[in-house]
Amino acid sequence: MTLSLQEKTHILMDCDGVIWKGNQAIPGAKEALENLESLGYQLGFVTNNSSLSRDGFSQKFDSLGFPSEKYVILNSGYGAAVYLRDNKLTKIFMIGEKGLQDELEYQDLTVSENYHQDLQAVCIGWDRKLTWTKLADAMWVILNNNSQFVGTNPDNSFPSVDRLVPGAGAGIAALANACGKDPDIIIGKPNPYLLNLSLKEMNCSDSTRAVFIGDRLSTDILAGINANMDTILVQTGISDYHLKKTILPTYTLDSLAQIDQLI
Ligand SMILES: [Mg+2]
Repeated sequence: MTLSLQEKTHILMDCDGVIWKGNQAIPGAKEALENLESLGYQLGFVTNNSSLSRDGFSQKFDSLGFPSEKYVILNSGYGAAVYLRDNKLTKIFMIGEKGLQDELEYQDLTVSENYHQDLQAVCIGWDRKLTWTKLADAMWVILNNNSQFVGTNPDNSFPSVDRLVPGAGAGIAALANACGKDPDIIIGKPNPYLLNLSLKEMNCSDSTRAVFIGDRLSTDILAGINANMDTILVQTGISDYHLKKTILPTYTLDSLAQIDQLI
């Protein structure tokens, strides 16, 4: 399939595996973004990672040489906070890290790490200090209060420096299994929620004017398809290319550095 960016105005992309890998910028990514920006494209970034707040991500962008102030940056923690706020769920039992807590509190939500009957929702993200007690308390809130069960992102694993480790999806699955109840919503990709939220924040009312670039078929490309966007798969990150027969990106590039082929 062919794709031209001529008729596009907004270019959204994933971060890890697209512009950086771990703590290193992907070769050519910075120049590619500068080029797109000079051509007038609006650039946005959508990551499933909930461990950092948007401020934390901005600092990471800056530290790797990407000028964060020029971009719209959304993560699943922010998306979860907006979802809860918009649904008027303000008293939250949280399992997660500081970045998620910050995002919930930025939306004026009250965050509790103790269970009680006034809590209206459970929000669970990546928590590298997840315990049986936290799961038991969240389970009580879901079953006793009939609370909404909101997960930040479904990623089962996360590539740490030397091995794969459990991701947020592993904790969500454990809680769902214990409760015998699926989450009411998981905000992160492949749900199109974050992509739609990005377009809204970038004042783009037509998703066909946008393209989404990612390295994972099962999350990024599927989210783009779910949001009615053209999609570009780059092959610089985690590959799940065995899914390529069922989840079809509009176009495939080796790397973001080759994006000028489509302009
Ligand atoms: Mg990625």
